Amino acid sequence: MLPQFSYVRPDTIEEAITHLDRKGAAVHAGGTDLIGCLREGILHADTVVSLQGLEDCRGIRRTADGGLAIGALTTITEVAENPLVQQAYPGLARGAFEVASPQLRNQGTLGGNLCQKPRCWYYRGEFLCLRKGGSTCFALEGEHPFHAVFGHDLVCAITHPSDTAPPLASLEAAVEIIGPGGRRTVPVDRFHVMPKENPEAETVLEPGEVVTRIVLPKPEENLYSAYRKVRARRSWDFALAGVALALEMDADTVKRARVFLSGAAPVPWRSRSVEGAVTGRKLDDTTIQKAAEAVVEKADPLPGNTYKLDLFKGIIEEELFTARRNHD
Ligand SMILES: Cc1cc2nc3c(=O)[nH]c(=O)nc-3n(C[C@H](O)[C@H](O)[C@H](O)COP(=O)(O)OP(=O)(O)OC[C@H]3O[C@@H](n4cnc5c(N)ncnc54)[C@H](O)[C@@H]3O)c2cc1C
Ligand code: SF4
Repeated sequence: MLPQFSYVRPDTIEEAITHLDRKGAAVHAGGTDLIGCLREGILHADTVVSLQGLEDCRGIRRTADGGLAIGALTTITEVAENPLVQQAYPGLARGAFEVASPQLRNQGTLGGNLCQKPRCWYYRGEFLCLRKGGSTCFALEGEHPFHAVFGHDLVCAITHPSDTAPPLASLEAAVEIIGPGGRRTVPVDRFHVMPKENPEAETVLEPGEVVTRIVLPKPEENLYSAYRKVRARRSWDFALAGVALALEMDADTVKRARVFLSGAAPVPWRSRSVEGAVTGRKLDDTTIQKAAEAVVEKADPLPGNTYKLDLFKGIIEEELFTARRNHD
């Protein structure tokens, strides 16, 4: 049952911050994750502060330097279908399109997608695990087929659930934040928190802070961006394995690469080994094979999820072949 709470819907960000600067306040954007978390007792709130009245935090606009600013309240459908996003950042458009179901994409927001809670079944169930303030991670010794193969450090093995965060990180996007302490900007690839730093936090947001915009830099010429997601079923589901590629090409050579994995780790996982295997090289068969081997070089799978390593090798190989075909 949904517990009782007060609900406010301010019209200005300043008013929202005033409400959020009180103990027991929670941010509400589309509510697709928040309401479930409140109902399941994962989160507790005395006051739910809806951001839906904040028109400034909605919409997609070009920035003065040729990039793009996406309001945190922009729906995931709007991101997936926006022609500017599709044209300049196809990896992000694809990531947004891969989120959940049409209904959830219509209601869920980009800011909420970056800030959502993890999907580990112990966490979502009645287990007081480390992430909920308990003393142990039940997944490490228990059932963990969908859990992390990188970066868990034997602390907490969630995989970050967002399909938009890996493409945003690969495209060097930044998150604009406002809170009681003022404004700040954090690159998306430093927005999420590793369990060994703090197993109870998913993001660097401090109490009372909200994400207002996500800003993408102007894409380099000859940028190839893509996102690929593998899931257990064809209906809505979270990523078992996924990859966001951002490759700057110089003729048929990769000049610069940023590669982030989904379904891999507690945060969108940067694969520097794949980046190293392709940078400065032509995407020929040998390079692609080496990159596919490199993706699992530093993997740390758990006994029940070693199958994911072949998935990651397979998607890296297929996506680099696709990148080559697109460039021919
Ligand atoms: C059945 C189901 C399947 C799903 N499948 C996928 C999937 O395949 N891929 C995927 O990426 N996601 C998936 N999701 C997650 C879904 O995309 C998120 O629920 C959605 O993006 C959250 O957006 P929202 O606006 O509804 O956030 P809310 O539910 O309103 O908020 C989510 C969390 O973020 C916080 N928050 C929201 N906005 C802000 C902000 N601007 N600043 C600070 N904090 C904020 C809230 O306090 C809350 O803790 C799924 C969800 C469901 C219920
Ligand atoms: S993986 Fe994380 S969320 Fe899941 S049981 Fe372990 S500590 Fe809890």
